[in-house]
Amino acid sequence: MDQVTQAAINSDRQWRWLMELAEFGAIPDNGVNRQALTALDRAARRQLIEWASEIGATVSIDEAANLWLRVEGSDPTAAPVLTGSHMDSQPKGGRFDGAYGVIAGLEAITAMHQAGIVTKRPIEVVAWTNEEGSRFAPGCTGSMSWCGFKPVHEWDDVKDADGIFYGAALATQLGFESDIPRRPLGGPVHAYVEAHIEQGPLLESEGLDIGVVTGIQGSRWFTVTIEGESAHAGTAPLSLRRDAMLDAVRAIQALSDAMADPDDVLRFTVGRIAVSPNSSNSVADRVTFSIDLRHPNADILTARGALIPSVIQSAMTVCDARLVENFTAMPTDFHPLVIAAVEHAAKATGHSIKHMASGAFHDAQFASRVAPAGMIFVPSHKGISHNPAEYTSPAQLAAGTQVLMHTLLRLANS
Ligand SMILES: [Zn+2]
Repeated sequence: MDQVTQAAINSDRQWRWLMELAEFGAIPDNGVNRQALTALDRAARRQLIEWASEIGATVSIDEAANLWLRVEGSDPTAAPVLTGSHMDSQPKGGRFDGAYGVIAGLEAITAMHQAGIVTKRPIEVVAWTNEEGSRFAPGCTGSMSWCGFKPVHEWDDVKDADGIFYGAALATQLGFESDIPRRPLGGPVHAYVEAHIEQGPLLESEGLDIGVVTGIQGSRWFTVTIEGESAHAGTAPLSLRRDAMLDAVRAIQALSDAMADPDDVLRFTVGRIAVSPNSSNSVADRVTFSIDLRHPNADILTARGALIPSVIQSAMTVCDARLVENFTAMPTDFHPLVIAAVEHAAKATGHSIKHMASGAFHDAQFASRVAPAGMIFVPSHKGISHNPAEYTSPAQLAAGTQVLMHTLLRLANS
């Protein structure tokens, strides 16, 4: 028997692990609220380490608190194959976003271990730190640090809603996990493959098993601050006001017009706004709002993003505007080596596939800067994600993990 037929994914065990992991930060209606670098995050990581210890995996963390589980290969000098995803969630998240990719990696190496398979290359499962960016923006700080795109301390001064700094939260996490051996960031890597729920409706609506992800559209996040002057709503004449709210509204409308796309491919979102002093009878002296801009074409993303400062500037009547770009992930094309390995694995295991690009960003976008990378999508019921109602069936998850395992076998024996 070859290695493909020897090892079998245990769907029940994988589902049980996922459901047990979802207990860490469980919220009503099957939701999960497990923010990065919290006590809940650490408890979930300890649970993962316990499961991994059953197959003798070596555990380590790096300076960005990414957590690594490693099984050795037969060639001690060979660069490893990486898989994994993230374990943090949105505040009202579901049980599968991120968690699935980590558990799928653990299930794949466990099934291989139980079948007595030793690949040529080592296989490592990673749980990246702070992918979601919901507690500390931006997301993907763990993978950005690991690949050298940004230094680990780039976001030290970013505060969460309680005023806790990212740098302090990271130091706390590393302190609590000081018993876990440290490893350096980066390193030679043969390939990276990440399993994830689709977070969109395409696979389900077309009745397909597996998304072979060909790339990820680019994302740019900005913060706009409009500065005016506070005044009494009853006494200050309109002609003398510097109303930050009104100029912010003009700016958002002008941006929305400038970002219109007849092909409906560009994604432009203003999803967060903060008003100071946020009082019904005061003129606003400061309004801050976010911009999330995405497109699969790098030139278009660059060109549209370049319009933003002048569009905002020309919308100002009496206020001053400041613009900061907080996050940039240019569009990513995944590597033919990994795409072919996923295709081959899906074919070998009898699963239907769809080639697709990802609308959401993922850690794979940053891993791809240092290693051939790719992703495997499984269907998301009704495309629902970042929501407690997120759902993928045990059988669909097992199919994805089967494809992941065979992809890992192929890459780790090459
Ligand atoms: Zn995710």
